[in-house]
Amino acid sequence: MQPEQPWSKGEFAILVSTPRMSHDALSVELDTRSPGAIAVVREGICLWHRRMDTHDILSRMMTTFLETRRGDLTCHKCKERF
Ligand SMILES: [Zn+2]
Repeated sequence: MQPEQPWSKGEFAILVSTPRMSHDALSVELDTRSPGAIAVVREGICLWHRRMDTHDILSRMMTTFLETRRGDLTCHKCKERF
């Protein structure tokens, strides 16, 4: 299996700004990301806003990005604002 390329900030910005899109629809938008890969990152975001350990799911870029946007985000999984 080909190792997955790290997510770019641009791709992650699209993911966090589209919590209402399905994994499938978002994978069309982000054409190098599979619905499964998107699901994993979204699961990581849900763990992060519930203050659980995400170090093996989310990169440093991702957690820094989430910190800077805190208060302005909606979780895809549980629809909670954080
Ligand atoms: Zn959540």
